[in-house]
Amino acid sequence: MYGLGLLKGLSVTIRYAFKKPFTVQYPETKLKTQPRYRGYEFVWYEDRCTGCASCAKYCPLGIIKIVTKRAPEANIGGKYALDIFDIDTGRCMFCALCVEACPYDALFMGVNYERASYTRGGLVVHIDELRNAKKMPSAFLRPNLEVQAGKYTEESSLNPNEAGR
Ligand code: SF4
Ligand code: SF4
Repeated sequence: MYGLGLLKGLSVTIRYAFKKPFTVQYPETKLKTQPRYRGYEFVWYEDRCTGCASCAKYCPLGIIKIVTKRAPEANIGGKYALDIFDIDTGRCMFCALCVEACPYDALFMGVNYERASYTRGGLVVHIDELRNAKKMPSAFLRPNLEVQAGKYTEESSLNPNEAGR
């Protein structure tokens, strides 16, 4: 029948017009992320990091840059001091192999996703940003964080003792 397609299309429009919307007005409203969500950030605990560079070696894209030096209080089994710990998130595919490779639970995927930049350089996360960022590690690859990661608020920050195994 002529016009049947139009009526079918309109019926879909009308059906959805009266349903509760499942979109939100971002950024005024934000959806709560799931505990294992891999956001657009990394959470790094310098206190736990030895500078072993396993994460950098495992990254298939080679986008983690680490420069270390002997720590003043260095001893056998101790840790290096870190001068550079940069991650070029503009090239990152968020595979989390670096997180999996870290033997000391110093590196985590984070649950934040608001780190857009107008430049490629702005996508590189430098050591000071990692140091000073709020710590909201994802439970991805860290099931011990499942409970905490489900309760984050805007102000949350996990200290290294809570985050480690
Ligand atoms: S998530 Fe994957 S690509 Fe990104 S830094 Fe880690 S290992 Fe490299
Ligand atoms: S984050 Fe983990 S794997 Fe990377 S240098 Fe530090 S301790 Fe080693």
